Amino acid sequence: RNAGLGSWPERRRRISPDRDALWFEGVTTSHREFSDRVRRVAGALAGLGVRPGDRVAWLGLNHPAALETLYACGQLGAVWVPVNARFTASEAAYVIGHSGASVVVHGRDHGTVADELRSTTSVRTWVTAEPPLAGGEGSLPYEELLTDPEPRDARVTLEDPCLIMYTSGTTGRPKGAVLTHGNMTWACMSQILGFDFAQDERTLAVAPLFHIGGLNGTVNPTLLRGGCAVIVRSFDAAGLLALIEEQRINSFFGVPTMLDALSREPGFRARDLSTLRTVAAAGAPLPAETLRTWLDRGITVQQAYGMTESAPAGTVLDAGDAVAKVGSAGRPQFFTDVRVVRPDGTEAAPGEIGEVVLQGPNIMAGYWNEPDRTAEVLVDGWYHSGDAGSVDSDGFLYIRDRYKDMYISGGENVYPAEVESALRDLPDVEEAAVIGVPDERWGEVGVAFVVVAPGSAADEDTVRAALRARLAGFKVPRRIRFVDALPKTATGKIRKPDLRKDVSV
Ligand code: ATP
Ligand code: MG
Repeated sequence: RNAGLGSWPERRRRISPDRDALWFEGVTTSHREFSDRVRRVAGALAGLGVRPGDRVAWLGLNHPAALETLYACGQLGAVWVPVNARFTASEAAYVIGHSGASVVVHGRDHGTVADELRSTTSVRTWVTAEPPLAGGEGSLPYEELLTDPEPRDARVTLEDPCLIMYTSGTTGRPKGAVLTHGNMTWACMSQILGFDFAQDERTLAVAPLFHIGGLNGTVNPTLLRGGCAVIVRSFDAAGLLALIEEQRINSFFGVPTMLDALSREPGFRARDLSTLRTVAAAGAPLPAETLRTWLDRGITVQQAYGMTESAPAGTVLDAGDAVAKVGSAGRPQFFTDVRVVRPDGTEAAPGEIGEVVLQGPNIMAGYWNEPDRTAEVLVDGWYHSGDAGSVDSDGFLYIRDRYKDMYISGGENVYPAEVESALRDLPDVEEAAVIGVPDERWGEVGVAFVVVAPGSAADEDTVRAALRARLAGFKVPRRIRFVDALPKTATGKIRKPDLRKDVSV
């Protein structure tokens, strides 16, 4: 009997067939219709030769086919591989090649990428979920393949791999986290408990489904619970606020840059957002100003902390603690144990900064085909996050920064996230990123990359002087470099390796 994610649509068909499952560009799909579609997609993939254990990639912006192929793979015992839709052809080729996918299903925006990769990867079959906007003549039309309505039920256990999701690539080459059906189940159960999703939940799929927050933050838990995911192809702040009102949305997962952009729209005040119960925010530090803007608007924002490797249930701040514990990422999710440890493995005291480590049934099986990188992070059953954090005396976690980004200036640890937050508080600064660079005298010193607010005439000296009033001297960056934009990942995280590449002090 299939115990995995592939069985969820079948179970929903039994329990709540007539409730809405998906909404996309004006079309509503019930749970019964969704399970029909998933059966047919599984039939189509089987017809293309997909067998248990084979990898099937999805390359596209948010679209129902992303979820259909994920669940269909679950029914076949095949492994789903979502590929970052913003990747260049060569970046996509790396992930597709590394995963060994034999079939790729792509969206309408990826016809030309498919053409480019057709001859350079070992992919057997390319399928297009919709008529491509350009190119893609060699891709089979998905809809025409959906002819076989028979239910399929490969024997899938909770230990079998469900998907390989590549990490965001914020700190370097992405790693393929192998998430099992059990990982998905326990992570989604934790999300349901942590965010209180209702049977008739209406959530937004707006963050990319190819990242873990977009997929399991609210979307898969909502489908498991029997609610509806309103799928948005890609982020547009004004359009999204209108949709929240029109579709009576109760929740969504957003990254801090998204929440910030939404709060700057006129619609943020003008629209009726009264159905919105909670917003899950994670992926990067949530600036306190952004959080306050939402709380002032009467909308709960629950900061959460997690990663691809934990699918992503790590910690969550309860709605009731949002104000009292501003800045905290909350307490461990129900099925996850979280500790902050010293380098020798002992538990850090309250307030002491150490490495955040996680354990639980949601932690990945390992990185696909990378035993060395797996062994570095999975130690004695604990996943070592590489994130620096501390726990207060009430057990609430505060994330300081990544250890990879921390630097030591004159013997003092500097967490760039703190400096960046102080920079962003300055009226002249719109965005900022700080990195440490080698320095003969101090060991390392900070360099700040700053995007100034429109109309600002700030120069290096005024910014440094303003910072000096707020931060200890060793935290004030030695150099301020003014730039037009910062290099970012698809979820708006700043790619610091790109900044390090072109820095000379
Ligand atoms: P890569 O591992 O490829 O460098 P990544 O770590 O950004 O990329 P993800 O798994 O998408 O890939 O992101 C998880 C990371 O995001 C966490 O390890 C942490 O550094 C950061 N993060 C997540 N939630 C929070 C939060 N609430 N506050 C601060 N940082 C967070
Ligand atoms: Mg990571």
